[in-house]
Amino acid sequence: MEDCIFCKIVKGEIPSKKVYEDDKVLSFEDINPAAPTHILVIPKKHIESLNEITDEDSEIIAHIFKVCKEIAKKLNIQEGGYRIVMNCGKDGGQEVPHIHFHMLGGRNLTWPPG
Ligand code: AMP
Ligand code: ZN
Repeated sequence: MEDCIFCKIVKGEIPSKKVYEDDKVLSFEDINPAAPTHILVIPKKHIESLNEITDEDSEIIAHIFKVCKEIAKKLNIQEGGYRIVMNCGKDGGQEVPHIHFHMLGGRNLTWPPG
């Protein structure tokens, strides 16, 4: 999608610190980290929010969770634990309208979130 910041990251038009990439998924460091480890995992396909996912996307969403598991291992947060968050819409705090999973770790995370 033309004006989407994460589509631009996928295309390499905006730089990112890549953590993982395959043909369907990209993961990179969050520019404004909320924890010692804070990365984003996104489908390369532009999907605006969780509200827009369809049956066709089931495979990629499942694949993203497997990728998260591998990333947790790679970044050494698997044992200590981590949190995966997806914000959806205005009240959910979604700022970038391209679906993304936040992966947070490296410190004790409080619950519930604010
Ligand atoms: P959300 O509020 O769930 O939409 O989260 C958007 C996230 O994207 C925030 O944590 C931002 O810090 C992060 N972000 C925005 N622009 C960039 C960028 N160019 N590179 C990396 N992370 C970004
Ligand atoms: Zn996009």
